[in-house]
Amino acid sequence: MSRAERAAERESGVKAADSRTILPGSTIGVLGGGQLGRMLALAGRAMGYRFVTLEPTADSPCGQVADRQLTAAYTDQAAAEELARLSDVITYEFENVDAGVAAMLESASYVPQGSRLLYTTQHRLREKRAIEAAGVQVAPYAEIRSLEELREAVGRFGTPCVLKTATGGYDGKGQWVIRAEKEAEAAYEELSRAGTELVLEQFIRFERELSVIAARSPRGEVRTFPAAENVHVDNILHLSIVPAAAPGDVLARAEQMAARIAEALGVVGLLAVELFQTADGTLYVNELAPRPHNSGHYTMEACKTSQFEQHVRAICNLPLGSTELMTPVVMVNVLGQHVEPLLEWLGKQSEETPDVAVKVHLYGKREAKTGRKMGHVNLLAARTEEALAWVERTGIWRDRSR
Ligand code: AMP
Repeated sequence: MSRAERAAERESGVKAADSRTILPGSTIGVLGGGQLGRMLALAGRAMGYRFVTLEPTADSPCGQVADRQLTAAYTDQAAAEELARLSDVITYEFENVDAGVAAMLESASYVPQGSRLLYTTQHRLREKRAIEAAGVQVAPYAEIRSLEELREAVGRFGTPCVLKTATGGYDGKGQWVIRAEKEAEAAYEELSRAGTELVLEQFIRFERELSVIAARSPRGEVRTFPAAENVHVDNILHLSIVPAAAPGDVLARAEQMAARIAEALGVVGLLAVELFQTADGTLYVNELAPRPHNSGHYTMEACKTSQFEQHVRAICNLPLGSTELMTPVVMVNVLGQHVEPLLEWLGKQSEETPDVAVKVHLYGKREAKTGRKMGHVNLLAARTEEALAWVERTGIWRDRSR
């Protein structure tokens, strides 16, 4: 290793030996067979990469489009070893990867994202501390180890405030909005059953929720996608609207914050950063995800490079692509209850939509259970209002809160 390489290594915290370039023709191994892996494989195959996925459920969304699926539990050491043998580089499409498996894969194969980022983002307290260490603000929070500590912190933050489990929560699960001090005991009892540490957050009366996806490659290049404005229904993402309606300087700040966190954490690949924006323009980071993100699906047709192509570029150490937005866009999620009306609409296309390009993505899941993410639609239009009017007009999402 040259002195220059050693100096670059010290500066970036990334091992120079990890900066190898993986060219098309190589095989990318994906831990997890869900829709994120599927869209990653579709983008990567277009570039000439091969894909193998490890996933316990046969005929998975990713397995359907990969060259090969290894059907086994994520914790199956032999299957993970086989994945390592078949792959030139390994990535993951969810963050709750078993630590032992991640360590084994790292020693047996090439995992440029590393296991440290997983370790940080798998735990809300570790994640918050890492964000603060990067000089970025999170909502005021307190670590809770007992009911007394919870009572004290609820008194300090006032109500409402939000009690969350440090690990394992998603789509609003593992959370309790404490609306009055007398609820503290019930909230504590319920959430401490999860057997993980707890964290109390001040309730942020946000004007809107934003997210920014940043990409970083081993060579240290960082790019961010335009911030999306996200609307949740029942704690599940319903819409992403881009450009977001926030003032330009707020959006620029959100994008700078995401880049700063990606740099400070030495991210390789994608990092999704979710934020709350208050009426006075203050931004608080809510949480991170070290992977492609639902709120980045709009990039598939609306940006010069999609989040999935960017992730492939980043982990393979290719130059990152332009993240420029080519058109206003609204992404609307298709949950189980929306599939039938959407298919009906697709079958007859009764609605004339000259002003909106309707790009339907379905993930190949058989069972359309209520609330299950089955696909999404990207709506490209001259103005986001036109895309939102299309969502209303079709009636497909009318019953969206079920
Ligand atoms: P999370 O699982 O942390 O992403 O939280 C799910 C949703 O709950 C967020 O998208 C917010 O709408 C809401 N939420 C979570 N934490 C807070 C908070 N501290 N203040 C206000 N709303 C919150």
